[in-house]
Amino acid sequence: AKRLGGQTLVNFDQALGERISERQTLIHDLKAALDTDQLSLYLQPIVEASKQSIDHYEALLRWQHPTRGMIGPDIFIPLAEETGLIHPLGNFVIKQACTLLAALPETQGLAINLSAHQLVDPALYSNITEALLEANVSPSRLTLEVTESALMQNATEAKILLERFHELGVTLALDDFGTGYSSLAYLNLFPFDTLKIDRSFVNQLGSVKDSQPIISTIILLARELDLRVTAEGVETEAQAFLLKELGCHALQGYYFGRPSPLEDLALPLTH
Ligand code: C2E
Ligand code: CA
Ligand code: CA
Ligand code: CA
Repeated sequence: AKRLGGQTLVNFDQALGERISERQTLIHDLKAALDTDQLSLYLQPIVEASKQSIDHYEALLRWQHPTRGMIGPDIFIPLAEETGLIHPLGNFVIKQACTLLAALPETQGLAINLSAHQLVDPALYSNITEALLEANVSPSRLTLEVTESALMQNATEAKILLERFHELGVTLALDDFGTGYSSLAYLNLFPFDTLKIDRSFVNQLGSVKDSQPIISTIILLARELDLRVTAEGVETEAQAFLLKELGCHALQGYYFGRPSPLEDLALPLTH
């Protein structure tokens, strides 16, 4: 048994070693990706529930790796956060989003995701204002999406920063609402305009663990607090219909469109 245990340990070490060097390789590649045009923003439409017209887009980061193909943000954002690469990467997103905004019709906006590390970066505010100025884009067309867990890490500082963005006229959205901490106090404490219901609730609409009572309650609460509600992860017509009936202001999900590069977007409002 002892020998067997030892062998298991050796195998485990080997596997761990491989994972670590795999990680190092990806980090190395990610650094290169920033300098060589491998990163790009895909846009996913967020649709006005009442009119079924595009309200704005969410910008989602994609990495076209030279040998591994397309890598999603769930893989490389955590690596970027651990290594500090999130700062140049975040700035790429900010600049690119403002460039895209300049190319979109003026009636449409764009949302970007901010990670917890960016919320404590003293340069974030000026990075965003400078990018907006340079692209000659109104701050009101930009939405910043942050999660509750990102706010938790430094609530006092985050509150001051978000208030400055609010003053500037930027739209603020609380992302993934209902997952993780879900402290209702946060809703009132920060100057949010929009609450995004996490797609795990939308998934469970009409299932055995029906989430409809939860969604209804979130929408009621949001209305009391004068917040707009966006539902994420809408995949079927039935979900879209029900969410609109329940009072969601905006809907986002594969049913309305997958994230895609700007050139692949059908832009109904441009012509
Ligand atoms: P998120 O902000 O919650 O973004 C929504 C995710 O749901 C996206 O995954 C999107 O492609 C996916 N999605 C949209 N509609 C549907 C649907 O109908 N069904 C399903 N199953 N999924 C749907 P994606 O693009 O892989 O992004 C994952 C996460 O990575 C994002 O979650 C966000 O937290 C993070 N992320 C993406 N881009 C950036 C970025 O530029 N900066 C930072 N800091 N994080 C980013
Ligand atoms: Ca988001
Ligand atoms: Ca989300
Ligand atoms: Ca998420």
